[in-house]
Amino acid sequence: MIARGFRYKLEPLPEQEALFRQFAGVCRLVYNLALEQKATWGRKHRLGYVAQAADLTRLRAEFDWVRAVYVSCQQQALRDLDRAFGNFFAGRTAFPRPRKRGVDDSFRFPGREVAVKSLNGKWSAVRLPKIGWVKFRDTRPMRGDLKNVTVRLDASGWYVAFTREIAHEAPAPSLEVVGIDRGVATTLALSTGDMLTLPASLERIEVLKRKAQRIVARRKRGSNRRRRAQARVARLQARQARIRRDFHHRAALDIARRYGVAVLEDLNTRGMTASARGTVTEPGRNVRQKAGLNRAILAAGWHLFATILTDKMEERGGQVVIVPARFTSQTCAACGVVDARSRESQARFICIGCGHTDHADVNAAITIERRWNTPLLDVEGVHQQPCEASTGRDLTVSENPRRSRRGRC
Ligand SMILES: [Zn+2]
Repeated sequence: MIARGFRYKLEPLPEQEALFRQFAGVCRLVYNLALEQKATWGRKHRLGYVAQAADLTRLRAEFDWVRAVYVSCQQQALRDLDRAFGNFFAGRTAFPRPRKRGVDDSFRFPGREVAVKSLNGKWSAVRLPKIGWVKFRDTRPMRGDLKNVTVRLDASGWYVAFTREIAHEAPAPSLEVVGIDRGVATTLALSTGDMLTLPASLERIEVLKRKAQRIVARRKRGSNRRRRAQARVARLQARQARIRRDFHHRAALDIARRYGVAVLEDLNTRGMTASARGTVTEPGRNVRQKAGLNRAILAAGWHLFATILTDKMEERGGQVVIVPARFTSQTCAACGVVDARSRESQARFICIGCGHTDHADVNAAITIERRWNTPLLDVEGVHQQPCEASTGRDLTVSENPRRSRRGRC
């Protein structure tokens, strides 16, 4: 069984939107109260979900406006908190923080209390307890058993996300291996020579966003005009996130369908080698600026891609492998010589040792692919220059990325 999310844009009526805000507000309050209670008394009294749910019943009896909001949503908030503490005690996350208005506007229903119907080709509706039927733009078919339903506010409006469990037979993984280099000029370069680049519209939005950010800086703190300017930045950011997510989903699906093993480099060590990628070239000012722009666009997306790809590979019986990133951009894929001078420009790789020529990102992708096969590492590491960049890590093959660290790989 695998859990999958299906997310759609909601089209609530004004009175439904008012209920959404009320639900989100009360659930946030319940969460924050329970968090405070747990932080103060939890250690002494071993407060778990059951004890806090009993307190919730008392709270509901006492206050009408708490009772006005559907009880399951409030219980789900307590479950969230319980999970947050579980993650904290297991050392996976930091101590749970209070939820904030405008950031954590969401509430959740158990799947069995919710119904869905199709209205026509474009629209469907979801029945939420105490709220009623709410229309949503039906952009993709759903499958699997409904587990729960979350309603959430982001900068561009209200969304509904259905979490479903999909039973699947993992197919015999094809043994085709592909190495993937995540870069700035080419977003994804595959060891097969394929190159995928983020849509150009992202860059246009980035320029608009920076302009909008400068406007925010000029507005007086606490003013309405500042709030409006901030909302514009948030909307542009949300649009970028949607475009990026769409690109990653498409690219990952394509890769998961074609290959059994996808090899990525460990990006936590990438910062150390990043300078070598740039210094060989003599980029003009615009090139640098553009690279900076792209880097900013990508920064949030690289880890997300690893998570999405892992999901899609696992669903098809495949596997994602993370290998060390050291010198992937300077290593010749043909003979293994490591030399910064081989990187002739941002795009071109010409080996100092053997003269092998390739697109620099594809060369890196092939090197990444080879690192999955440990014995071949013997080939690498013939340094022509003393190298300063050392990550302190050995060139050993690491495990699959851990899923629990919020998309970090
Ligand atoms: Zn070579």
